[in-house]
Parts: sequence; C-alpha cells; structure tokens
Amino acid sequence: MSHQASAVSRQLNLALLFALLCAVPLCAQAPISYRISFPEPEHRWAQVEILFPDLGVRPLEARMSRSSPGRYALHEFARNVYDVHAFDGGGRSLTFDRPDTHQWTIAGHDGTVRLTYRIYGDHVDGTYLAIDTTHAHINMPATLMWARGLENRPVRISFTRPAGTSWNVATQLHPTEDPLAFTAANLQYLMDSPVEFSDFTLRTFTVNPNTVIRLAMHHTGNASDVDQLLGDVAKLVREEGAVFGEFPSYDVGYYTFLVDYLPYASGDGMEHRNSTAVTVTGTFANAGQRPDLLETIAHEFFHSWNMERIRPRSLEPFNFDEANVSGELWLGEGFTSYYEHVIMQRAGLASIGETAAELGRTIDAVVRGPGRSLRSPVEMSRLAPFVDAARWVDRTNWDNLYISYYTWGEALGLALDLSLRDHTNGRVTLDEYMRAMWRAHGRPAASGSRPAEGLVAVPYTLGDARDRLADVSDRAFADEFFDRFVEGREVVDYTRLLQRAGLVLRKRNAGRAWVGDDRLSFGGSSARLVEPALFGSPIYRAGLDQDDEIVMLDGEVMSSSAQLDRVLQRHQPGDRVPIIFLRRGTQTNGSLTLEEDPRLELVPTERTGRALTDAERAFRAAWLSSRQ
Ligand SMILES: [Zn+2]
Repeated sequence: MSHQASAVSRQLNLALLFALLCAVPLCAQAPISYRISFPEPEHRWAQVEILFPDLGVRPLEARMSRSSPGRYALHEFARNVYDVHAFDGGGRSLTFDRPDTHQWTIAGHDGTVRLTYRIYGDHVDGTYLAIDTTHAHINMPATLMWARGLENRPVRISFTRPAGTSWNVATQLHPTEDPLAFTAANLQYLMDSPVEFSDFTLRTFTVNPNTVIRLAMHHTGNASDVDQLLGDVAKLVREEGAVFGEFPSYDVGYYTFLVDYLPYASGDGMEHRNSTAVTVTGTFANAGQRPDLLETIAHEFFHSWNMERIRPRSLEPFNFDEANVSGELWLGEGFTSYYEHVIMQRAGLASIGETAAELGRTIDAVVRGPGRSLRSPVEMSRLAPFVDAARWVDRTNWDNLYISYYTWGEALGLALDLSLRDHTNGRVTLDEYMRAMWRAHGRPAASGSRPAEGLVAVPYTLGDARDRLADVSDRAFADEFFDRFVEGREVVDYTRLLQRAGLVLRKRNAGRAWVGDDRLSFGGSSARLVEPALFGSPIYRAGLDQDDEIVMLDGEVMSSSAQLDRVLQRHQPGDRVPIIFLRRGTQTNGSLTLEEDPRLELVPTERTGRALTDAERAFRAAWLSSRQ
C-alpha cells in the first residue's frame, strides 16, 4: 500500500518537474516517432521502429510495460520482444545494458536514438498483441517500448500495410492528414489507445444530438449483419446516455467500438477513454452468441463514464511498471456489470426472466460465497492483481478466499439501487447517485485548468464515493450502507427489497438433500474432488478435501452423477450417510451429514403462480423500463 503510494507520487513529481521544465523554451518537447510494420503477418510478428530525438546526454531508458490500463495483473510484455538494435542519429550502432527484464539502457548516443525490434503476438483480446493475415489487433503496452523521463512528450505513430492488403486503422488516437498516421499528447494516452488494423466494417451513428459513435468491426459475416447489430448497439448507447443525462465529450470528437467477432478471438472487453476493444469468440451465424456480444458492449460503453472519467484516484495515473491496486473496483467494475444487465433490460434486449436469472446468480454467489467471511468488497477489489487475467502454476484456494469484485460489486449496485428506492420511496435511485459522481468527478470542470490528455481532473477516493451517496440521500443512510455493505461484509435483505419489484428470491431446490457445491469429477469407480472443499459444505465437514476420491456414499458406488442423485433423492436434509473415500491411495470410512440445498434463484412473481400487484408493476417499470 505504501509502496504503491510512493510509486504514484514519484510519477506525479516527475510530471510536475516536466511541467516546470517545459514552461521554458529550452524544452522543445520533440515528438517521439513510432513506425509499426508487418513484413510477415503469417508468422505473427511486427517490426517496430522508434525515433527518440532531443535526448540530451543522459542514457536512454527504453522499457516494455509490465501492465496495461484496465487490466490489473502484471503481464511482463517484454517476453515477446526480440532482435533489438539501437543506432544514434548518424546511423552508428549502439550497445545497450539490460538492468532488468523490462529495460534497455542505451548510453553513448548523440542526442538521438533509433531503436528497432521485433515483437511476436498471437492472442486476440483487450490486453495482448495479435497479428495474422486478417489483422493486427494491437494493445499498445503489449507492443511499444517507451522511455522513462519522456512520458510527457507528444507521440506520432504510423502503420505500414502488409504487402497486398488494403487494411485501415481504427483507433481513438488523433488522426492526421495521412490516414495511416496518428498522434497522442503523451504516453498515458498512447498506451490507452488500442488499434485494429484490418479490413473492418465501419459504421457511424449520432446521438443526443451531436455525439458521434463509430463501430469498427472485424468479423466473418456480411456487412448487413453489422447493420443489423448497429440498431441494438444504438439502443444500448442511448439508454446509457439517459442514465447520466449526457454523453462525455470525447477527446477526439467521437467514441469508437473496436470489435473483433471472430472464432479465434478470446472473450474480453477492455475500456479506454474514447474507445473500447471488445473481442468475442464467435460469428454472426451463431445467433446464440449475440447476447454475450451486446452485454460486453453495454458494459464497456458504460465505462466511458464510470472508470474512464469517474475514475478512482488509485488508478490515476496508470502505472506501467507495477500493478495498480484499487479498493474501488466494486464500483468501477461491479456497478458497471450491474448496469450492463439493467441496460439490456431497459433497451428491450433481455426479458425480465433473463434479467432476474442473471441477478439471481449474482446474489447467490455473494450471499453464499465463503469469501464473504474473510474480506469486504473493498478488500476483494484490492486482490485484482492476483486474479485479473493473472496466471500461476501453484494451487490456490480462491473459491473459498475470494469473491470477484465484478460479482460482489454487481450485487452491491443492485442492493444500493433497491435500497435507495426503498429508503426514499422511489424519489432517489442509483441513476441519481451515478449522476452525482459524474457531476463531481467525471464531467470536466467548466473553468480551471484541464488535466493532461488521458487524465481526469478530480479522481475520487472511497471517502468521496461515500460523500456523494450522502449528497443524494442522507448522511446516516450513506454511512450505514458503506460501513455495513462496502467496507463491511454484510449483505442487504435482498428478499424483501426484490419483492417490491415483483421478484421472488427463493431456494432453487427447497427441501432437497445436498452434499455441497464442491466440484466432483466422476470417472471409473469414484468421484474425485477437483477443487479445495468449500468452507462448511457437507463434504468439507465430512473431512474431505481436494484430490480425495469418494468411492461409496450410502452404499452406492460413486461412478456417475446419476448415482449421487439417487442417494440424494432417497434422503432428507439432516440424514447422516456412510462415506468411503481414498486419500492418496489410503481408504477412510466416515460419515457425511446431508443438508438442504441452499442455492438461490430469482424469478418474476408472475411465474410463481401469483399475479403482479399494481404496486409491484409500477416499481418494476420505474426501475427497468426504457428511459427513451
Ligand atoms: Zn469492466
């Protein structure tokens, strides 16, 4: 925590120093130039050439990033760099030192360094680099070296088409007269600006009344498929605009969805200040994948307010050397996930049954999540560097120790929305809270100095988020909500709050016997526990844990889930049954006490055999009907 704080203040001090230095004419701020070409896209590498001018006499410290904006784990992008060469302004070859795995230090130059390297990339998502004969899908931190101390220099970047292609560039970078050349004001904005370089389909629409939205889509379908999708995207965009009452003023004059809808893409969505990279595994031919695509689009566009402008101070500025740690991801990510479902419903793209099912799964995961006994949503947020696309080889116990800040934050968004409506009799909703956050922290100040491009003027702290809630409700309500549910580990009474909207939270299999949610792999003549036993489950209480193999339960051989079901069907919760299991080859005889299946589901009242009351219908409409 203190380490993080010192890293951030070091960056701020550097920024300040540069601001002072560059106030005098001595500092020319000569732009850094990048050129990226793809001589052999079939072999999935790019050639990068960087010109660093006006360096003075200090050694150049060229670095690869270890992290990427919006992704919180370390990713060590230097891994894919090879064939590095450095030259001075006269073309003389220079040597370099490698003080650590991320840095190339080049001394003895003449004030100019030209750096060239190759980089390999074959992963289509929001974090990495992917090159093939259909596109170059470029996330900047995974691709570009940058120089320490030159973070505030402007940047010019140009792309060279692979031979025989007519690819174009879609990006939030600033355009120039050259359609393949772009600029960025500084390193923060450059790194935040992904690029799709391909034969994408481009569509544009305008909302409210002059915000321009672009959809650049790389896909395997027809242009008419994109036109069909465009209508749904526009509905989502308009509903989200209605939550905040206005659209952000996008720095380049438009917002761009960079969508890769490909069988070889990984499922991902990554928010940026004026764009998003959305990658979905699939094709237009499979209509079943459409909700995934639309939900990701709804989620990422909501971030153009909540995260890109209503931004926690813990993420500002983004640190490319270390993981940023934030205790506010339950709000930045979790509330965004809550709105993803609300907006799908308001836009008419999800049914009440589908929305209830989504919210029900979320409530179930949080209310019954073992991790809730250990950490609050704030503390879960701070674990992001360990879980956000992080990789490890040793076993962990995350199913017990962790609840995702997406999941818990989504449940908190629902809790706060319903609690505000309940507390104020419908006068104040979560939309008002988001607008209060937007006015105080997101919308640029009408007067005063504007921050550097890519940064926000008034990032918020956890205390600010609490105070804004007090602003729209009252101090006692805000303090109780934050103390108990955000910084504490309690959950609201979802059953009562949801009942007002005509939604029934109930046990999915009331009265049925259950051994736990523990994942069992049936095979041969036993059922193996493939993850750590979940705290307090019947299997856990019986003394079993990961790798133990249940051979017999209540006299039945456990070779299939059907056999387990047979045992459960003939017993009542509370019954004690004999269990025989193998642990590393040794047999143990014990007993297991069955419990009632506690799993929850959320269903519309009208599906439970009772009609909606007028009050429930009105509450639901005020909450989930279109704002258009
Ligand atoms: Zn997100």
